[in-house]
Amino acid sequence: MFYGFDVGGTKIEFGAFNEKLERVATERVPTPGDDYQLLLNTLAGLVDKYDAEFGVKGKVGLGLPGMEDADHGTVLTVNIACAKDKPLRTDLEALIGREVKLENDANCFALSEAWDDELKDEPSVMGLILGTGFGGGLIYEGKVFSGRNNVAGELGHMRLPIDAWFLLGEKAPLLDCGCGKKGCLDNYLSGRGFELLYAHYYGEKKKAIDIIQAREQGDANAVEHVERFMELLAICFANIFTGNDPHVVTLGGGLSNYDLIYEEMPKRVPKYLMSVAKCPRILKAKHGDSGGVRGAAFLNIKD
Ligand SMILES: [Zn+2]
Repeated sequence: MFYGFDVGGTKIEFGAFNEKLERVATERVPTPGDDYQLLLNTLAGLVDKYDAEFGVKGKVGLGLPGMEDADHGTVLTVNIACAKDKPLRTDLEALIGREVKLENDANCFALSEAWDDELKDEPSVMGLILGTGFGGGLIYEGKVFSGRNNVAGELGHMRLPIDAWFLLGEKAPLLDCGCGKKGCLDNYLSGRGFELLYAHYYGEKKKAIDIIQAREQGDANAVEHVERFMELLAICFANIFTGNDPHVVTLGGGLSNYDLIYEEMPKRVPKYLMSVAKCPRILKAKHGDSGGVRGAAFLNIKD
């Protein structure tokens, strides 16, 4: 049995999955954001409860918005205040008497997609999230690849490629990122970036959905904006694909529902790839909101 926890800023979602990877239990509880011991007890309590219910000792995976410091085992997160700088994984291991795996939620999203029936035989799957921010996860042979520092797949903090800078032109906005750098993809390719760029070029704040609708009605600014954004996305995707050459790419997050992306990327990406490379299949994520908990549980499918 595989147990997954998707630990968010406000709620914890628990899921239990059997050996066929079917979900057999779900539970949601509020995140005790200010009380670390209560957070540990909440997680351990759910493990004990479902161990008793299924008569097994389930394998435990945690997904959260943040990452583990590779040298100290402490959690780097801003969303779960009480877990910040705490050795959450090893403290939970001590409490429940078994190994716990921990990954950031973007890696869990990617792993969940990679274990979809259709993709599970693919050698590599890249998950990209076009949500409030832009992030990703790299899955090789059914396992998360997290690198030396657990930052592999943090594609949102790669900086804009030179082609993108030329595309954005003389008025290119050099945006500050939460990580302290400038020009990170996070601020350009996300849903937030889509809106920021529109406001930058046209001096008007509009929601992504309204911009998309305006384009469909032929609004000149919206048409130009979407054209520029699709090309920007293609340039950045092509740079990312050149570094990783994934077999399949799945897109999640709010902006991934924009169907035009799936029409435009196969047409636009190849001209920015090496001539020997083909654009990988780019698919819409299938498991959406349940991706976090599925991926956390699936951290233990392969040792
Ligand atoms: Zn950044």
